[in-house]
Amino acid sequence: MPVSREQLMDKIVALTKRRGFLYPSSEIYGGISGFYDYGPYGVAMKRAIRDLWWRHMVELRDDVVGLESTLIMPSEVWAASGHLTNFVDPLRQCLGECKKRWRADHVLGDRCPECGGPLDDARMFNLMFKTHVGPVEDRASEVYLRPETAQGMFVDFKNVVNSTRVRVPFGIAQQGRAFRNEITPGNFIFRVREFELMEMEYFVRPHHDEEAFDYWRKERLRWYTDVLGVKRERLRMYDHPKESLSHYSKQTTDIEYEFPFGWGELEGIANRTDFDLTVHQERSKQDLTYMDPETNERYLPWVIEPAVGADRVLITLLLDAYDEDVVNNEPRVVLRLHPNVAPVQVAVVPLSKKQELIDVAQRVQQSLRGQFRVEYDQTGGNIGRRYRRQDEIGTPFCITVDFDTLQDEAVTIRLRDTTEQERVKIAALPERLVTLTS
Ligand code: ATP
Repeated sequence: MPVSREQLMDKIVALTKRRGFLYPSSEIYGGISGFYDYGPYGVAMKRAIRDLWWRHMVELRDDVVGLESTLIMPSEVWAASGHLTNFVDPLRQCLGECKKRWRADHVLGDRCPECGGPLDDARMFNLMFKTHVGPVEDRASEVYLRPETAQGMFVDFKNVVNSTRVRVPFGIAQQGRAFRNEITPGNFIFRVREFELMEMEYFVRPHHDEEAFDYWRKERLRWYTDVLGVKRERLRMYDHPKESLSHYSKQTTDIEYEFPFGWGELEGIANRTDFDLTVHQERSKQDLTYMDPETNERYLPWVIEPAVGADRVLITLLLDAYDEDVVNNEPRVVLRLHPNVAPVQVAVVPLSKKQELIDVAQRVQQSLRGQFRVEYDQTGGNIGRRYRRQDEIGTPFCITVDFDTLQDEAVTIRLRDTTEQERVKIAALPERLVTLTS
């Protein structure tokens, strides 16, 4: 049943709070704008997203290696990369009643979208969070929390080349926290101030960028549709016009999703050329060139970078999966999540609290653990209520242990999307679930 786009985000916000996916950070103290905590199901789902990214970007490939660099890096890094001067958004403040601050490129005209008051002139605001290293808070001790993980990959480029057997073309991938002091966080976790980035820098020979750029555009789109199950018609590619490119980019394509508030960036794929390695080589005065054993040339490689936030993927998947329908004359809410990303993949539910059933159900649960994300659900009232709870958190398969199980060593698999049921021998269960999952 189609759910109105206007209501969808509110429904997701309510569901994720009610069912333990996401909570406002420090809520008992009134919260802090642009920060969210992940509850048990949210954590499970975000880990699944990160693992699937890592699997497809690193583990299933020969040409990409991993890295974890620090969240705090010295000011020189950000001076060289251009973030100190260029990582800014234009800020305008309401001079009327509400005094709200806005990103100038997000408002039309000169009046406040909130109260209609006049807006002041735009001034530039740097999005990096600043702090100090050591006990003295002076200019020399100033450092920044990273707004992207990419710089770690450039700063460590030579270390990776010298300590491993990588050969251009190759990539360095990293996942980790990034911090941006966004002027207007919002749309739930679409725009937050602390988030989890997943970035890969793919190094190619100078001017061999176009082919790699095309390859990664296709490859990244495929990840959303084939691995995460995002609806193709809700995705599109947006090529940035030259005048709106970031300071480091020659060419950028965004993979956009049709959010309830309109099309928005899900992932950015940027052609960073040799911008970053060049500026770091200049400023650090270290030789960052690469000696190509095939061509016997020494050069600074060019870079193609796919970059996406795990939190933004998570909100996309929830919005894409949300549905309401009617089962046995009763309305239900269901998250039609791909089994790959469902926080619980299999729920094992004994039909009643009889000890014989509990014993078998717990045995079944233990036999599936490790291979699947499994939850055992004995509480929560009658079986219908327990199914509905699992539907709401997106569990694709419920395994029901009933009195017949004691005789025939078989259980029922209930499918979330159709609510169809099938009977399977306990011994054949893992294999059947693998088939259903893929
Ligand atoms: P915008 O112009 O919308 O502020 P951007 O173009 O600066 O964003 P990128 O630097 O391209 O964003 O960020 C790469 C990816 O990181 C985005 O596609 C998105 O998935 C994620 N991301 C960026 N900023 C945020 C944020 N504030 N909250 C959550 N995810 C973010």
